[in-house]
Amino acid sequence: MTVDANSEDGGSSPAFNRIVRCPGCGGDSVYAAANPARPFCSERCKNMDFGAWAGESFRVAAPPNAEDLDLGDNTLQ
Ligand SMILES: [Zn+2]
Repeated sequence: MTVDANSEDGGSSPAFNRIVRCPGCGGDSVYAAANPARPFCSERCKNMDFGAWAGESFRVAAPPNAEDLDLGDNTLQ
């Protein structure tokens, strides 16, 4: 008589740690509640990526040309 099955069933409970790729550095990032910076691997990467993205977006939208606006409007409609 063995009760090993019971012990084995309730013994292991995986924390369901999903590993994703950090958009900031491209490294492994733990996508779980324990990682508040997810999907980034760390708060540093999160801030870095956001800063770069915001900066680039701002740079592109910085020079608003009248011709560009006209063209955009035409394309949208
Ligand atoms: Zn990272």
